[in-house]
Amino acid sequence: MIRKVKNLLSLPLEFLYPPICTVCESKLAEDGICEGCWEDLLEKLLDKPKLYFGFKVFSLFLYEGKVRRAIERMKYSNMRTLATKFAGFLAEYLKDEGLDLVVPVPLHPARRRERGFSQTRLIGKVLAHELGLPMRFVLFRNRYTSPQALLGASERASNLRGAFSYKECLNGESVLLVDDVITTGYTFYEAASELLKAGASRVVGGTLARGSV
Ligand SMILES: [Zn+2]
Repeated sequence: MIRKVKNLLSLPLEFLYPPICTVCESKLAEDGICEGCWEDLLEKLLDKPKLYFGFKVFSLFLYEGKVRRAIERMKYSNMRTLATKFAGFLAEYLKDEGLDLVVPVPLHPARRRERGFSQTRLIGKVLAHELGLPMRFVLFRNRYTSPQALLGASERASNLRGAFSYKECLNGESVLLVDDVITTGYTFYEAASELLKAGASRVVGGTLARGSV
């Protein structure tokens, strides 16, 4: 019996948990998403950036339906391969923007511990690699803000006011600020404003998805 358990433990994880598509949860998918779902998603790619409080933000998809499901599951189940695949696409949108530096929107350390990793950092890393740019952790969170989803519209803005500070000065760089999703844009605005205070000449956003309103 003990030997059996030992044998089971030595199996690769994929054998115990075959890689199922994050989106439809029915078909097998080696890299997190099956071919059919991937084709569906590609049809939904957005083609224009959107302005949030004057900042240009590029996103791949609207945050709804299959995309929302994939991103939510990615966040909590450590879907590194899928995050990497999406970020590779996002790099295509950003390559002609004249950027100098990639900065991820920081998660509070307590939240990163809960999840075990920062999805935003991972996306930032892939973007930096694809675009041939350095990534620096210029910003940090001052406090543990309540999850935005639990708050009403007016509370959302005040919840985030002063949420970020910079820990190093910049020297006129054009910065790509990366987050996984942008909804109201308050988080992005707070972080981007702080980068300008730090000395960035310009801030452009890159996110996997944006809110549909
Ligand atoms: Zn699927």
